Amino acid sequence: MQQILINYAIKCREQWKQWREATKFRQAKQRLRQANLSYTKYALRLCRTDLRILIGLLTGHAELNRHLTLMQIRTDTVCPLCQEDEETVLHLLGECSALVVKRTNILGSPCLCYDELGKMHWCALLRLAKASQRF
Ligand SMILES: [Zn+2]
Repeated sequence: MQQILINYAIKCREQWKQWREATKFRQAKQRLRQANLSYTKYALRLCRTDLRILIGLLTGHAELNRHLTLMQIRTDTVCPLCQEDEETVLHLLGECSALVVKRTNILGSPCLCYDELGKMHWCALLRLAKASQRF
């Protein structure tokens, strides 16, 4: 049994290394810098709808206009809340001027860069995303 666990741990470490070295998954790598058991447990307790939203926020594959345009579902990438920039996860959670008050109340700052968002608990990111009423 012990050898099985050791082999599993080695395999997980190899897969993590391959994922980190891959040239794809830019946004997910920025947000998922290392495995976090607490965050994983939080995510596993979410309902399916909230988990889908959270995964979209973490991977950049959220149902926001930029991604939907890439998927050829929409033709306009502009944020419908502020009309000022492309609607991406970074824009929605960190920059959108229409969400300054909600962002300040939920995340504690009116504007956040990518690195600062990466340090936020997933619970706070999900709360702001749902408060935006874009999901
Ligand atoms: Zn906006």
